[in-house]
Amino acid sequence: MSTHTTRTTPSTHVLVVGAGFAGGMAAVRLAGRSRGRVHVTVVNPRPTFVNRLRLHQVATGQHVPAPDVRRMLGTDVTFVEGWVTDLDPDAGRATVSGPDGVRTLGFDRVVLATGSTTEPVPVPGGEHAHGVADLAAAQRLRSAFADLPAGADVAVVGGGFTGLETVGELAGSRPDLRVRLVTSGAATGWFGPRAAAHVSASLDGLGIESVEGSRVRSVEPDRLLLDDGAEVPSDLTVWCGGFAAPPLAREAGLAVDPAGAVLTDGALQSVSHPQVMAVGDAGHTVAPHGGWYSMSCQFAFPSGAHAADVLAAEALGAVPDGGPAPLDLGFQGRCVSIGGRAAVLQVTDRDDVATDRAVTGRAAVVAKRFQVRGVVAAIGVARRVPGAIRWPGSDRAAAAVAAPVAG
Ligand SMILES: Cc1cc2nc3c(=O)[nH]c(=O)nc-3n(C[C@H](O)[C@H](O)[C@H](O)COP(=O)(O)OP(=O)(O)OC[C@H]3O[C@@H](n4cnc5c(N)ncnc54)[C@H](O)[C@@H]3O)c2cc1C
Repeated sequence: MSTHTTRTTPSTHVLVVGAGFAGGMAAVRLAGRSRGRVHVTVVNPRPTFVNRLRLHQVATGQHVPAPDVRRMLGTDVTFVEGWVTDLDPDAGRATVSGPDGVRTLGFDRVVLATGSTTEPVPVPGGEHAHGVADLAAAQRLRSAFADLPAGADVAVVGGGFTGLETVGELAGSRPDLRVRLVTSGAATGWFGPRAAAHVSASLDGLGIESVEGSRVRSVEPDRLLLDDGAEVPSDLTVWCGGFAAPPLAREAGLAVDPAGAVLTDGALQSVSHPQVMAVGDAGHTVAPHGGWYSMSCQFAFPSGAHAADVLAAEALGAVPDGGPAPLDLGFQGRCVSIGGRAAVLQVTDRDDVATDRAVTGRAAVVAKRFQVRGVVAAIGVARRVPGAIRWPGSDRAAAAVAAPVAG
C-alpha cells in the first residue's frame, strides 16, 4: 500500500474531550499505537468513570463501581479534570474549567467524545419529568424514587432500550409501586418474534402495565396527558424518549444534527471541520449501508478505536493515498435486561436489524451482566494491548488503516 506523510512535526498533540467508552478507548489506543509520536491529553469533568450502561441501577440505589479514570488511562495519557467550556477548532484551542480554575489547552487534532445526556423533554410540563441518561439525572431520580410511598404510580415514557431497562429495574426493585411503560409504538416493536415474546412476558412478570400506541401530550405532577385524550396516573415520570449531545459542538460552530451530534464522514472526521473527529454518541456517522450508527456501546468502542488508528497513521506518516479508511462496523446483537432477573440477547444482522434468533433465560442474564461489567474492563485491556479490541469489520479497516501502524 502506498502512503504519504501528512505530518512533519515530531510530535502531534491530540486532545480527547470526554473519558467515556469512546474517549477512553480512543486515548489509550492512540497512546499505545503511535510509538510516542502523539501526546494524548484527555479532559473529563470528574476523576471517576461513569458507566452509563448502569445508570438505571444507580437510580434504584444499587452500588455501581466508579473506577479511577487516571488509572484507567495509564501513564502514557495526560489527564485533566474539568469541563471543556469553549472550543476553537480553527485556532486549536480549548478552554477548560476545572477544580484548579480556568486554563487553555492547545491541540493539533481534537477528538470529541462528549457522549450524550437526557434530551430536553419535548412536551409541556417536561420539568416534572426525570431522566436517567446522565449521572446527575440518575442521582436525582434515585432520591425521588426512594421517597415514593407504597402504592404510588410511576410512568416510564419511551420504549427504546433505555426505557425497557429502566422500567424493568424500577418495577423489580419496588414491587409495592404501580409501574407503567408508555410508548408511542409497540413496546416490543423493534425485536424479532421470539425476543418480543420474552420481553412481553418479562414485563408482565414484573407487573408492568404497557400503555402502547399513544404519544404523551404533556406531563403534569400527578399524571400524563396522552394525545388520544387518555390520562395515565403518574406521581413520578421518567422520560426515556431519546438522547441529545451536549451543546459544545454546536457552540463551536461544527455542523451537527438536530440532536447536536457532530456530522462526520465515514472516517469520523467532522464534515465542516476535518481537524475535528467525533466518536461515540457525540458523532453522527454514515454507515456503509447508508444509514447512521446508533448511539450505543457497539458504536462507541469501535469508533474510539478507529479514530485512534486514523490519528496514529497520520502521526506516523502512514495515511493511505485515498485518505483514511471509513469505519466498517457490523452489528451482531443487542442485550437488553428487564429487571435483574430477565434479559434477552437479540441477534441482529450487520445493519442492526433484529433477526428471528434470540437467547433468553439464564444465559442472557449472565451475558448482560458480563456486558455491563466488561465494557469498563475493555479500556484497561486496550491500554495493555492496544490492538486487542476488534469488531465485525475491523479486519477490513485494519487492512486499510491499522496495518501500517501495527508493530
Ligand atoms: C440507562 C442506560 C442504559 C444503556 N444501556 C445500553 C446498552 O445496554 N447497550 C448499549 O450499547 N448502550 C447502552 N446505553 C447507551 C450507552 O451508554 C452510550 O451509547 C455510551 O455511553 C456512549 O459512550 P460515549 O463514550 O460516547 O459517551 P459517554 O459514556 O456519555 O461519555 C462521555 C463523557 O464525556 C464527558 N463530557 C461531556 N461533555 C464534556 C465536556 N464539555 N468536557 C469534558 N468532558 C465532557 C462526560 O462527562 C462523559 O464522561 C445505555 C445508556 C443508558 C443511559
